[in-house]
Parts: sequence; structure tokens; C-alpha cells
Amino acid sequence: MLAGGEPTTGRVVRVKGAVPDFETPQRVPISTEVNAKIDLHFDDPWDNPVFEAANRFDKPDWLAALHSKNGRYSAKLRDVRGHVNRFTGYALTKYYPHIGFQGSLSDRDIRILIELQIEAGCNVIAIPEPSPTCTPAVFGANLETFWEYASRINQDVAVMPYVHIAQDPARFKAKLRVVAEHEHALWCLGLVYASPAHYRPNYLHVAEFGHRDVWVHCSGVRKYQSYVHPVSQLHSVQFFGVDSVALAVPRAFYNRGGQDAGAMPASTPTPSDVRYFVRKSLDYPKLAQVCGGGKPLPCPCPACGKKTLDDTVAGLAALGTGDEPAFQTRALSKIHDVYASTAEFDVARIEIAESRLSEYYNSKPAMKAFLGLP
Ligand SMILES: [Zn+2]
Repeated sequence: MLAGGEPTTGRVVRVKGAVPDFETPQRVPISTEVNAKIDLHFDDPWDNPVFEAANRFDKPDWLAALHSKNGRYSAKLRDVRGHVNRFTGYALTKYYPHIGFQGSLSDRDIRILIELQIEAGCNVIAIPEPSPTCTPAVFGANLETFWEYASRINQDVAVMPYVHIAQDPARFKAKLRVVAEHEHALWCLGLVYASPAHYRPNYLHVAEFGHRDVWVHCSGVRKYQSYVHPVSQLHSVQFFGVDSVALAVPRAFYNRGGQDAGAMPASTPTPSDVRYFVRKSLDYPKLAQVCGGGKPLPCPCPACGKKTLDDTVAGLAALGTGDEPAFQTRALSKIHDVYASTAEFDVARIEIAESRLSEYYNSKPAMKAFLGLP
């Protein structure tokens, strides 16, 4: 796993007890991506072995609104349960509360999030970290309290304690040690994503953790590094032995119906402005670059089918949903992303199993540069 303090191989682990067993690395679709399918009446299935329902809580009030278990809680539960039911029996189901504000979660916040997940029928219950600045002792006590609490409500669920990547490396390492003390009883660990460009030491701690018998999942992954360097972040962290990855819920202005819906960007985007995952380069150029000049989309997945952009947009308009062409194209790009990125993880898994991850990245110059590979 490690050579001279640097990971070189990634890892393949088999996660058992899921429906069915699966090997990593894996891409985990999230509820926002499922919503894109619903918006476009797209029925073809995904067969990913893990599914994550995810919500953003960008303000403390949004989380506090769940406390009284009144209408807000019921609406949230209905939404999460609807998503989870769709995958129950086909995939391992889990939930990720994306905490988008600074500050600590109270015991009450964490308890309500755990109740929400159990009532919604999730197989794996996320135990949020009270805050990235909490001590390892507080992190450990929180884990034990809520592990016991979740097991008391439903002894069949597994718990996944979450740790923020974005924190002091010594503290991060000590929290991994707390998790390691429970190895075998505890079989999964969740990471709250932060860029490997900024938190490399912590990803190296994750790589060191890789010899343990624990499934390491990362939630809230940014789609790409930046507009200037749109390298896929989902495909970067397998380098450090992260076993499965799920994207972040986009901010509200991309998320029709979210609490801040209506705060649209200043200029109206067109379909050719939409970012699109390209397997060959593991990045997100705009569609104008991918299929400008009437070239067909380079992907044979059920969403793209190697059609031209014009034909694609015309086909979407014919659905009669009344949505903007750019909005529909963005939804289509999300559906494509799950198919194409999952297929690319299938390729990477074989390369990792044959100790060829470095060679694999050699054929992806943008990723190779991002990871600082020689
Ligand atoms: Zn596609």
C-alpha cells in the first residue's frame, strides 16, 4: 500500500453482507442523481451496489427544524424513505447529511439525524462527527453513545462514523485510531470529503489505514477541482485507498426546489455550457468542447447513446416537461455521469488488482498532474 510514505497501488476490498457482495472501488449514486432520472422520466436502472440518500443542511435552522418532529421532519422522512425504498433489496442503502455550516452539532441534532435514517429504512447509519475540531475523546464518546443508541432501536443496522478530512492531521490520525480500536465490530468508516490537494497528509493517513478490515467511504465529494482544472475528484481518492465515493449535493441554485431555489446564476446557461464527464481524461469539459461542430457524444451509455447534442436537446424537449434546455441537459449529464463513472471504476478496479494504478493514471495526464505523480 505504501512505499516511501506515498501510496502507490490503491486497494480492492470485498464488502460482504451487502446485497450483493461487492468489490471496491465503487461509485455510489446519490439522491440528487436519482432526481435527475425522475425529472427526465428515465427508467433504465443503475446496478450500483450502494446507494446514498443525501441532504444539505446549509444553516443550523434547517437542522433545528427537524427537532420537533412536526411537518418538516415528516416531509424529510418521506423524501428519504422514498429514495431508500427504491433501492432496498437491490443495494446497500445509506444516508449522508451534508452539514454546510460552521459550528458543532448538538447531541439533539445527531440523535434526530440517526432517528431519521433508521425510520427511513437505511442499512448503514451515519454517525456525524460533532465537529471537525472536536477532540478524539469527544469523537470516541459520540461514536459509542450513538452506536449504542442506533443498535437499541434496530440491532440489524450497521453504523458508519464520519470523520472530516478537513482537520488537523494529528487529530485526524488519532480519530482513525479510535475507529481502529473497534475493528471487526465496526466495519465501515465515512469520510467527509476535502480536496487531496489541500489535505494530502490526511489522505496518506487514510492510505495507512488501508490494511484494516474496514470499508472506507467518502461522501460530499466535489465533482471537479475547479473550472480551470476540471479534474474529477471522484476518481482521485481511490489512489489513497478510499473504497467508495459519492458526490456532494449541489448548492441550491443548481437544485431546483431546494430552500434557496430561484437564486439562479446571472447569465442563462445553454446546453453546450453544461459540464460532462469524459472517461478517457477523467475530467469535466463543457459539452461545447466534447461535441462541438455536430460531433456525437463520445459515450454509448443509455443516457447518451452517441447522439449529437442537437438531437439530444431535441429529444429532451420532446419530453414536454417544460424545463429549460440547459436544465434538462444538466440532468442528462448527471445520469450519464453515473453510468460512465461507474464503468470507469470497473476499469480501475482491474488495474488496481493487477498493481497497475500508476500506469492507469499515466494515460490520464490531468489526473496524473493533480495527484503529483512523477
Ligand atoms: Zn453517457
